[in-house]
Amino acid sequence: MQYRVETLDSRTWLIEEYDENNSVYMYLLAGEEKAVLIDTGFGTIDLKEICAALTPLPVTVLLTHGHADHIGGTGYFETVLLREEDKEIYGLHSDENMRSAFTKESLCPVKKDITFLGDTTELKLGGRTLEILPTPGHSVGSICILDRERRWLFTGDSCCKAHVLFLFPYSGTLSEYKNAMEMLWQRRDEYDLTWPGHHAKPVEKDIILQFIEAAELLGEGKLASRVCESPFGSYRLAEYKDIGIEF
Ligand SMILES: [Zn+2]
Repeated sequence: MQYRVETLDSRTWLIEEYDENNSVYMYLLAGEEKAVLIDTGFGTIDLKEICAALTPLPVTVLLTHGHADHIGGTGYFETVLLREEDKEIYGLHSDENMRSAFTKESLCPVKKDITFLGDTTELKLGGRTLEILPTPGHSVGSICILDRERRWLFTGDSCCKAHVLFLFPYSGTLSEYKNAMEMLWQRRDEYDLTWPGHHAKPVEKDIILQFIEAAELLGEGKLASRVCESPFGSYRLAEYKDIGIEF
């Protein structure tokens, strides 16, 4: 796969790993003392070297969740943080068959000894604080990350301007997801923009409202859905405005 780097500001970079079929975004956030890399893509690019060219600071990885297209480059790093709720998913998605469903290219080995976040709710990078907000739904251990000083919300796969997927094992429930999106919406005054793991970027925060409305309508049986087929099996899709829920 290829990659490109987009500079968001003097201490923040978006790294996209992509080919003609797939694309994922990672975000490198530097403070004055430390840097955090949010997600690590499929594992086909040398993230260690890419990060070292952008910042001399030590880099800790913070995973938004444990899916194969986000954990692929973890093997390049010393410290990888994940919510413990996604432990099983991380194991399942470290499997070569799962990983090769995304790309046939050779892949960086996934790191085995990762660190669970436990009670950690904040990471201090020096003049820059990241708050970890649990948002179960797309996976049971999914998180969003609030970059307080920049007023940005990094959302992983929880609320891209696209479909949110509930069709993999260890997804959360629709009502858990709706609660999580309501929590994000209640805190909307703390961020201006959202940066997702895939698709359009950045995304206006109003997208969160669409997910809340869609989850509510679906829960009440007021949103139509249809059966679709994918390499992972059949699922139902409910479309709503700019987004959709696959379950
Ligand atoms: Zn995912």
